[in-house]
Amino acid sequence: MAKVHVKKNDQVMVATGKDRGAKGRVLRVLVGEGKAVVERVNMIKKHTRANPNKGIQGGILERENPIQIANLRVICPECGKPSRLGRRRLEDGRGVRVCKSCGSTFS
Ligand SMILES: [Zn+2]
Repeated sequence: MAKVHVKKNDQVMVATGKDRGAKGRVLRVLVGEGKAVVERVNMIKKHTRANPNKGIQGGILERENPIQIANLRVICPECGKPSRLGRRRLEDGRGVRVCKSCGSTFS
């Protein structure tokens, strides 16, 4: 399984691709696919046809398309920079993430 450095509710920035520089909150992490769904980032439009019998209104539905986690940088809660993260294991066995910009640790 790929190493996943992104967690739900993290603030992240997109580092590459058409949404480069976009920031948002992680809504979902798709570990198996190595992707994450980020709020209001990489939106795709889905056209839905009206179906009055089912009470469905036709129109364009927008939703987030998952992004490769490799293309995301977590925004460090301490220094506020989109950072590369390392991992460290504490003496009590808990794993924490380490910001490589400022050196602070967080879960
Ligand atoms: Zn930092």
